[in-house]
Order: sequence, then structure tokens, then C-alpha cells
Amino acid sequence: HLDRIAEVDSDIHAFLHVDADGAVASARAVDEALAKGESPVSAIAGVPLALKDVFTTRGMPTTCGSRTLENWVPPYDATVTRKLREAGVPILGKTNMDEFAMGSSTENSAFGPTRNPWDRERVPGGSGGGSSASIAAYEAPLAIGTDTGGSIRQPASVTGTVGVKPTYGGVSRYGLVAFSSSLDQAGPCARSVLDAALLHEVIGGHDPLDSTSIDAPVPPVVQAAREGANGDLTGVKVGVVRELSGEGYQPGVLASFDAAVAQLRELGAEIVEVSCPHFTYGLSAYYLIAPSECSSNLARFDAMRYGLRVSDDGEHSAEEVMAASREAGFGPEVKRRIMLGTYALSSGYYDAYYGSAQKVRTLIARDFTAAYEQVDVLVSPTTPTTAFRLGERVDDPLAMYLADLCTIPANLAGNAAMSVPSGLSADDGLPVGLQIMAPALADERLYRVGAAYE
Ligand code: GLN
Repeated sequence: HLDRIAEVDSDIHAFLHVDADGAVASARAVDEALAKGESPVSAIAGVPLALKDVFTTRGMPTTCGSRTLENWVPPYDATVTRKLREAGVPILGKTNMDEFAMGSSTENSAFGPTRNPWDRERVPGGSGGGSSASIAAYEAPLAIGTDTGGSIRQPASVTGTVGVKPTYGGVSRYGLVAFSSSLDQAGPCARSVLDAALLHEVIGGHDPLDSTSIDAPVPPVVQAAREGANGDLTGVKVGVVRELSGEGYQPGVLASFDAAVAQLRELGAEIVEVSCPHFTYGLSAYYLIAPSECSSNLARFDAMRYGLRVSDDGEHSAEEVMAASREAGFGPEVKRRIMLGTYALSSGYYDAYYGSAQKVRTLIARDFTAAYEQVDVLVSPTTPTTAFRLGERVDDPLAMYLADLCTIPANLAGNAAMSVPSGLSADDGLPVGLQIMAPALADERLYRVGAAYE
């Protein structure tokens, strides 16, 4: 994999940092333990992985794709990082991302975009474009992403790979640099559903260092992926979400989705159409809640404790240094969100904007609850379109936001969801993803259905 990175990554730019020595040392340690007759510390011991650059890694830079954190080397490991190390997983390096995970194309990275391995003039999705591209380009067999509004599933969809957003609280957020704390969730990226399950099992589980971590066992995802591989979905009820198709979706995406639903029926699943009327408001609610939480979370980048500091010449006040450093350190999308969020939270507007968005969130969660009374899983296309061209949406934030139309509802409700490849679009020959959604704490259903389908 290091050879492959050396061969293609100057073009793909999936990685912001490669730790060849660390990865080799970790792989050797696994080999030596096996040579001594010890049993492997995990099912994926020795299998290398690419880690999104939003997780703290002791001794390795963590930039979040931002100038603000350029050259910052954290003094501690995120829980996800620690679990990977303990499982004997060599960390190849840190992957490119939209700055602080805000974006749908990886073009908001301060260090230049990642290219889609299927067509290098197109985006790999975002914010975790580096993680998914590294898998699609065979630079890594496994990767970790984070999904606040779709940043694992949307890149997976447009790169023809698998990506899972576990139930909120299923994977620790400790050491995951916060964007929108009530939505952020780490999860696995892989080339197959079983690979994703094996990684999910390693990173999941309760963590006392994260107050929103769920104190329950990791759902039986590996067992479910193995069961699903027999391709029998008899007795499984699948709901097709009426609101997640139609206008705005590419014909090739809809055709692929229809074929996927037909295949699920052939595998024995019962297909029903369900309506989730409030999903239509998901995008609007998300773009109030996420920027609001971001404006609060990113206040910590004050140039005093860590990160970029400019105008520190003894001539400027602390306030002036903070303002100048934030002006220099943050890119345009991050600034847009901080301003939007600060406005939405300001006194006099709080109830009208943030308060209303939280009510919509409750209505969306109720739509899911009602749907899951009828069906076991819900399905939709993962994204309305295939990978778009580099530069195509950079000047149009609203067009960029639309990429997450189908993924956002599961984040707002805290539910589990997966994107699994569903072939190539007849429009342009690019990958399309099938989204499978399941209730909170029922992540195993995604794996059973995903493994049967893939
Ligand atoms: N694209 C969405 C946004 O820009 C989702 C990002 C994410 O999931 N981190 O906020």
C-alpha cells in the first residue's frame, strides 16, 4: 500500500500525511507476535488503514484540512486512534478532507482537493473524500471517516465504495475534532460490507471519555454481514422512502436505484413504499443546527491555546491577535458557517431559527419511528447525482449542500445508515450508491441487507 501511495497519490492527493515508518513498525509488530505463535489481537491486525485527518494522533499531525492547525501535532490519541493501535492496525497516514469537515467535495481543504480515482477531473465527495478515494485507488483497504450530514456515505457513493454511519453514540467522539457535536459520528469505510463490519467492531463501543457514548454492546455487525452473504432476505421488510427520489435526481441514479430495489425483492425482501413527509425540511434544519454548533465549537481556535497565531508582535492586543489569526486561518466556507451559526443563535433569533430547526429535527425522528413500525430498513439513493466536476459547485454553496439531501435525515435522528455500491450510472459510467437506513442501535440490519445486496 505504501508503494501504491507513492505511485498514485501525487495525483489523487488522498493523503495529507503519510507515516511510512509508523505503519511498517506496526505491521512488523503484528508479524513478530504471529511468528511467536501468539493469536492475532483482532481480526484486522496487520491490515493497514487510512485515517481522516480529524482524529487526534499522538506524534502525527492533525490538521482537519485547515491552515489553523497546520503543523499541529496533538499530545494525545483519539479513542478511535487508540483502539486501532490496540487492534494492531497499521495507520498509513492521515487523509484529506474539507476544512473541519464542512463540505461535500473535499475542495474546501486548505491543502488542495482530492481527485476521484474513477475520473480525476471529478470530486471524490466530501468531507471525507480522502478516506474514500484512498480505498477506491487501492492505496488502503480500510479507512475511517466521520459523518455529520453525510461525509462518510456521500464520498462512498461517488467513489464506488462502502461507508457506514453508525448509530449516534456508537463510536466514541473523544479526540474527534468537533464540528457539530450532536451530529458528528465516526465510522468505517471499506471495499466490502464484511470489511466495514470488521472495522466497525474494532472502533465501536462505550467510552467513558465521551458523555454521549452509548453504554451498550457493539451491535453484532460481523455476524450480520456473514449471515447476509448467503443472499437470503426472506422475511425482511424494506421501505422505499417516497420523498427521496424524483425531481433533481439524475435519471441514471434513479434507474440504478430501481434496479437495486428489484434485486432486493428477488433476494426475498418484501418491498413497501413509505412516506416520511418531514424529510423535505431536513436540509434546511441541518444548515441551521450544524453551523450553530460549529460557531460554538470553533470558538476554541483562538490562537492562544494552539493553532496558527499571526500579528503576535507585541503591538497588537489579544483581541486583535485572535481576530487576525482567525481571519488568516479559516477558509471561506468555515467563516460562512461561523457567521451563519452566530447569527442563528443570537438573542432574538434563537427561537425563530435554532429552536425551529430543533423542532423539525424531532418531526424527522418521528417520521423514522413511524416508518420503522412498518419496515426493518429504509432505502434511497445515497446521493441525487454521481460525482460532479472539480470546480463545478465551488461558487454555489446551495448546490454543494444538495449533495447531502438523502443522507442528512439519518444524522438528524441519530440513526444508523450505510452506502453500498449499486453499479454504474447509465448516464456517465460513474459509481452510484444505495443508501440503507436502520433504527438507532440496529446497525446490524444494515450489514445483513448490505451484504446480501452487494
Ligand atoms: N456536506 C455536509 C456539510 O457540509 C456534511 C458534512 C459532514 O458530514 N461532515 O456540512
